[in-house]
Amino acid sequence: MQTRYCIVGGGYAAAAAIEGIRAHDRDGSIVLLTRENHRPYRRPLLSKDLWYGTATIERLPMHPDEWYDEHKVEVRLRHEVIEVDADHRRLFDERGDEIEYGDLLLATGCRPRRLRAEGAETPGVGYFRDLEDYLALEGRMDRLQHITLVGGGFTSIEMAAALRSRGKEITLVIADEYPLHRMLPRDLGLPLLDFLRDLGIETVSGDVLAKVEETVGMVHARTYLGNELDTQLILVDQGGEPLVDLAEAAGIAIDDGIVVNEFGRTSDPHVWAAGDVAEFPYQALGQIMRIEGADHAEAHGRVVGANMAGAKLSYDHIPLKWFRVGEMQFEGVGELWARLDTELLWIEPGREGAVFYLRDEVIRGVLLINVHERIEWARGLIREAKPTTSAERANMLGVKA
Ligand SMILES: Cc1cc2nc3c(=O)[nH]c(=O)nc-3n(C[C@H](O)[C@H](O)[C@H](O)COP(=O)(O)OP(=O)(O)OC[C@H]3O[C@@H](n4cnc5c(N)ncnc54)[C@H](O)[C@@H]3O)c2cc1C
Repeated sequence: MQTRYCIVGGGYAAAAAIEGIRAHDRDGSIVLLTRENHRPYRRPLLSKDLWYGTATIERLPMHPDEWYDEHKVEVRLRHEVIEVDADHRRLFDERGDEIEYGDLLLATGCRPRRLRAEGAETPGVGYFRDLEDYLALEGRMDRLQHITLVGGGFTSIEMAAALRSRGKEITLVIADEYPLHRMLPRDLGLPLLDFLRDLGIETVSGDVLAKVEETVGMVHARTYLGNELDTQLILVDQGGEPLVDLAEAAGIAIDDGIVVNEFGRTSDPHVWAAGDVAEFPYQALGQIMRIEGADHAEAHGRVVGANMAGAKLSYDHIPLKWFRVGEMQFEGVGELWARLDTELLWIEPGREGAVFYLRDEVIRGVLLINVHERIEWARGLIREAKPTTSAERANMLGVKA
């Protein structure tokens, strides 16, 4: 078959790309292929709201089913694309179907980084990325009493807190001294670890799993430092790896992700990439980056979709990164790297505050902790890119002297 636009992926970037295309081309045919069983849905709800009961499955879809018909999109669920032949502008799925495209969007996101431990392929070791993973875990909840989370990423700690709130015994194994080690300064990371412990989560820091064995419903794990763990399920979150395989095999430029310009175009003029999988010029920071986050995937997908349909929009959004651990809500923008100079300021100690990420006293990133509706303000600070003093930052945040 032939289509004007072909979208590979069923996440935020894919759904938003449809909106972008349709804002500039009302009629060009669109085919969306996703290997998932569901139309695009809000993945972040999987690790928090669904467990806390603040959202139900019905709230997951980004758009109702009929929206795709109204926007003249052919959605092919359970279709995995296995090859892109960029020279002839066509692709193939695992069923042997061939699609010729005018323009192609790769919005394939990430796959979970696998656990490297002896026995790691046992069924007692799982990953948590898709709605199917959520449904499988929810379906087993009655039979699970102890779950081990491996990894110090935000999904891992969100899940640890969420499953604990459902009365499960939780062990959290993190390779570093504290979770979110690359993002949080130590003076915030250690209190976060204490916060998790106060929720009743057992934590093992500075250690990784070396060996996993499974015997009749129980999983036994040993760490490099010799800790022994008995659990019923190990869930691994060691971050994501961008799914660049299709692009790479098609000869499209790859770095930390699929390389795109400010319009979302790859090294092939008819292939575009958006969302978690794309490495793009982050204009406000003046550097090339790849970001894993829902707000970025949605905003990027929309802009890139519009550009596929002939717009010339340069992507200059400052994406929001948010996560929630129990009652702690984190929202960050900019360069959230603990390796920069950091300053943690509390409005209310341990409850409300912000981390400023600085380079030569210029604010490069801001992470807000339980501070709401200040994201536009934080974005403004990053755009300004002016040196500030500690007193000025405290004053701007509203810290009482
Ligand atoms: C549990 C969880 C919680 C999260 N919570 C937050 C949060 O609180 N805040 C936040 O900012 N971000 C969060 N994220 C990250 C956020 O969900 C992602 O950044 C976002 O989904 C990326 O969107 P995307 O469209 O780029 O990729 P994805 O949403 O990963 O979608 C990629 C799609 O492509 C499909 N696909 C891949 N390869 C193929 C192929 N060859 N053929 C067909 N289909 C293919 C995949 O199956 C998938 O449907 C969370 C992620 C997870 C997993």
